Amino acid sequence: MCHNNTMKLLPRLCPICDSSEHSKLFLESNFEEEKTDSFSFSSRKIPELMHLRMLLCQSCDLLYASPAPSAEMLEFAYKRAGFDSGEEADCASYTYIHLLSEILKSLPDKDGALDIGTGDGAFLERLLERGFNNVIGIEPSEAPINSAKKHISPLIVPGSFNPDDFADRSFSLITSFQTLEHVENPKEVLSAVIRLLKPGGVFVTVSHNFRSYSARIMGSKSPIYDIEHLQLFSLTSMTGMLKKCGFSEIKVYPVTNTYPLHYWMKMLPMPLSLKKASIGLSKKVKLGYLKVPFFAGNMLACCRKLD
Ligand SMILES: [Zn+2]
Repeated sequence: MCHNNTMKLLPRLCPICDSSEHSKLFLESNFEEEKTDSFSFSSRKIPELMHLRMLLCQSCDLLYASPAPSAEMLEFAYKRAGFDSGEEADCASYTYIHLLSEILKSLPDKDGALDIGTGDGAFLERLLERGFNNVIGIEPSEAPINSAKKHISPLIVPGSFNPDDFADRSFSLITSFQTLEHVENPKEVLSAVIRLLKPGGVFVTVSHNFRSYSARIMGSKSPIYDIEHLQLFSLTSMTGMLKKCGFSEIKVYPVTNTYPLHYWMKMLPMPLSLKKASIGLSKKVKLGYLKVPFFAGNMLACCRKLD
């Protein structure tokens, strides 16, 4: 990534309880800056198995990176991050809209939906198909916006999430898929989210669960331990954080994701050369494009703003 100046790492506190009092070392850093490239800060890349020093807050049940790159550094890195996963983004958007089908029926109306970390805006397209108006996405990386469909790209605001860009109580639905792991201050994002929601409006997020079976059996080889992830949640920490930010009717539960087989192969712990070869082969024989549901240790959190 930034080859001219070294990446500065700053100490952090637990982003939920704002202290380090109950924190202990979980995973030592194996981060080497020379090995990062422009794809290090893109979603659904081939994992590099590089991670920052991870601490466990035993009070919140949250894993968080400390020390970690500054917010400015991350903004710079994400802006330049690569994107080559349009097919997978499309697949994920269908999974998410399917998971939300019951939740969508409980919204105050279909006017105003915001997707934070929208990538190429595939999910915005799903919302439009469901009859939503005033659909907006936010995306810090330029590459996915450039590969967005023609009618979707005008709906995407480039850059980091700035709540001042939007009116309070203007959205019925706010979503953020696989994004809260990446932000420096997730509570700040959620406080803004609750302000922007209409009374009765719903926030939905999908994230990794570090307590999941798949994360535990893969240990430090799990792709969830990645330099991009500044924190990793469990059912407990996700619930606790949403409660702390003032949400009601909080539900957090494990979900299944459906992706093409070649995506799952990317996530397997095997040597990179072998991985690239087998993904190539699977695409050649078309097997790689099979849509395969898999329990990958993700969880969905859904909560409501009451008034
Ligand atoms: Zn904590």
